[in-house]
Amino acid sequence: MTNLAHDLRIDDVIAGRARLSPAGALRLYREASLHDLGRWASAVAERMHGPRVRTYVIDRNINYTNVCSASCTFCAFKRDLGEEGAYTLSREQLHEKVRQLTAIGGTQILIQGGMHPELPLEFYEQMLGDLKSEFPGVHIHGFSPPEFVEFVAVFDLPGFPRTEPKKSHELPPEVWQEKLTAIMRRLQAAGLDSLPGGGGEIFAEHVRRRIGIGKASAEQWLAVMSTAHRLGMWTSATMMFGHIEGVMDRIDHMDRVRQAQDRAIAENWAGRYVSFIAWPFQRENTPLGRVPDWDPEADAPFPGDELADRVAAGKVDGRDKMACDEAVPTAGKLVRMAGASEYLRMQALSRLFLDNIHSIGSSWVTMGPKIGQLALFYGASDMGSVMMEENVVSAAGTTYCLTEELLCHLIREAGFVPAQRDNRYNVLKLHEGPDAPDLRVTDWSTQRVKKLHIEKHESAPSSEAVILSVGKK
Ligand code: SF4
Repeated sequence: MTNLAHDLRIDDVIAGRARLSPAGALRLYREASLHDLGRWASAVAERMHGPRVRTYVIDRNINYTNVCSASCTFCAFKRDLGEEGAYTLSREQLHEKVRQLTAIGGTQILIQGGMHPELPLEFYEQMLGDLKSEFPGVHIHGFSPPEFVEFVAVFDLPGFPRTEPKKSHELPPEVWQEKLTAIMRRLQAAGLDSLPGGGGEIFAEHVRRRIGIGKASAEQWLAVMSTAHRLGMWTSATMMFGHIEGVMDRIDHMDRVRQAQDRAIAENWAGRYVSFIAWPFQRENTPLGRVPDWDPEADAPFPGDELADRVAAGKVDGRDKMACDEAVPTAGKLVRMAGASEYLRMQALSRLFLDNIHSIGSSWVTMGPKIGQLALFYGASDMGSVMMEENVVSAAGTTYCLTEELLCHLIREAGFVPAQRDNRYNVLKLHEGPDAPDLRVTDWSTQRVKKLHIEKHESAPSSEAVILSVGKK
């Protein structure tokens, strides 16, 4: 056993008898080989999910609106209210998308928008109620924490003071929490089943205030999820990395998720974080993407690491902007993009660190099918969803679309049995026999991987118009 494995008790971590500390995770990230990280993360995935089966879900990403009051520097999807290209899907457009999903055996929709500043609570209740009565068997995974933060700001609820959008933080904390709970209860009663983990990005304040302008704070994001857990809903958690953050900021992000999950378990809440998915920032068409690249030869060390390390050591208050700017003046002014090996390294680390989260999802949508497949050997146990459309990330770079046949093929080719799951990770269909989706295919030339890529901003009069070019790979 290497010194590193011995010092960090990797055997015990793999067996679930010991937990990695944040400092241990940083050491592992910096000192372990990619091969060892993959081996160890795979061993954890095998303990938790067995050696045979790896899962996927059939759902559809639906962005009901691109109108958003926030201005995230990594976003190329949002439009201001009234801006050319701004859209909100009609009931008919929305239902047509769900009909297309159920026609291919889909079981879930992931519905999220921008942070729309004007739609009332009744709009969402009606949308959910209509969906549930038309498609009672479809699970509604909807509204990420930043949307809930906007709901608290803009919804006029009897018994609660109205605030201006962007000023919901001015409500006393207990009133904000009460209003959030009241809104979530109403949406749950209308048909909301679970929450996606969008908008997590990086929690550290010194990173978040530079990249997520006008968006939920880390505390608000975590409070929304804890509220959902208290109300019995399951949620996912996400992290978008590979921009201005330091590695310690990523570990701090995972640590906050792990602590929140510890609390949900200790309090015996009926809801939990069920999955974690991390993906690298996609830069095209985004303000953050225009920030110069860090050059490891000329600019070393990476300023994001320097600041993150000093904040983690308690030498700089990450909430104090002036102190951060003084401590490392170049932090936030250079980006360090993450490639394939960096992605796999982080994903393996997340499996080893997040010992209380059931599933680690492969991010093939941004990394491509082959790296997504390889991710199954770096701690991922789930391939996420077939992708019928994707609008947000493809506005900032290339994303990929796969059919169920291709998704099953990737899992089987990696040496596992593919299984369709539901939102709670129950297996719906184990694809062992000759009628498996991939084993029925006789001509693979009809099963090509689609690339989605938005070349430029154009008006989006219909729900499909944001997808401007579809290439083949
Ligand atoms: S990432 Fe989401 S919250 Fe941020 S600007 Fe884009 S749509 Fe709005």
